[in-house]
Amino acid sequence: MTPTARHAELAANLARVEERMAKACADAGRRRSELTLVVVTKTWPVEDVRLLAELGVLDLGESRDQEARVKAASCADLGLRWHFLGQLQRNKARSVAGYADLVHTVDRESLAEALARGRAGSTTQPLPVLVQVSLDGDPARGGARAEDVPALASAVAGHSNLRLRGLMAVAPLGCDPAAAFARLRTLSVGLRREHPEAQVISAGMSADLEPAIRAGATHLRVGSAVLGSRPLLR
Ligand SMILES: *Cc1c(COP(=O)(O)O)cnc(C)c1O
Repeated sequence: MTPTARHAELAANLARVEERMAKACADAGRRRSELTLVVVTKTWPVEDVRLLAELGVLDLGESRDQEARVKAASCADLGLRWHFLGQLQRNKARSVAGYADLVHTVDRESLAEALARGRAGSTTQPLPVLVQVSLDGDPARGGARAEDVPALASAVAGHSNLRLRGLMAVAPLGCDPAAAFARLRTLSVGLRREHPEAQVISAGMSADLEPAIRAGATHLRVGSAVLGSRPLLR
């Protein structure tokens, strides 16, 4: 596909996503300005990142350190914000802490500690992070169990190199996303009693952004609805 054709395709897909968001906001009595659309570019080439930036998309999501690091470095001129969304091993924490603007997937204290240590080496700005919750208690897809969230959040808040910004979740497979996101909202309300600054709710992907918006999501993570079906199996 030529860059012009790809630009047109991305623009049309983005417009459709914006339309869905506008309608869901209207239904929920919310404003578009309350939402950050993170476009998930994992598996897509850096040329797509540049086209998205031309279209005004400055929040990009990635889930593998190696791929994200290369894209972030080659787009350092564009003023992008990089959201790290993948399951993260401690040995990658230093790298991610070097370029990420928000890490959505902190699900254990050892990872928080590794990110805090990694951040110390790269900049004096604390690294904003979200605690990822597993809404079905199945650790296979990452996420802390709901009952472990308060202790993990306190551990994050105790690191001067980290800033606790809120919660993230993926709707469990085969369950009603509205019910899952309602649980996430309840957890968020509880969290904010202890940590009023933890306002972010990262929820909602291509298939379920409407129920996420209705449940109070502040950050949507949308990949295939903007970029198309991913070229590689993840
Ligand atoms: C890939 C990914 C997304 C985007 O998923 P789509 O269904 O393509 O919108 C969102 N969140 C996470 C954590 C992901 O890994």
